[in-house]
Amino acid sequence: MAKKVDCECGVSLVGESDDEIFDKVKDHAGAVHGMDVTREQALAMAKPA
Ligand SMILES: [Zn+2]
Repeated sequence: MAKKVDCECGVSLVGESDDEIFDKVKDHAGAVHGMDVTREQALAMAKPA
């Protein structure tokens, strides 16, 4: 099931699987916000897309 995360900065990230949305959130958080995000945190923020 596709999942979506709306970041607080206004960017929307969409992944086709838990692995994909975790990768995107982790990359975005690290590159844009300088944050480390765990898989649990990324999936907790994700909603059905
Ligand atoms: Zn962001």
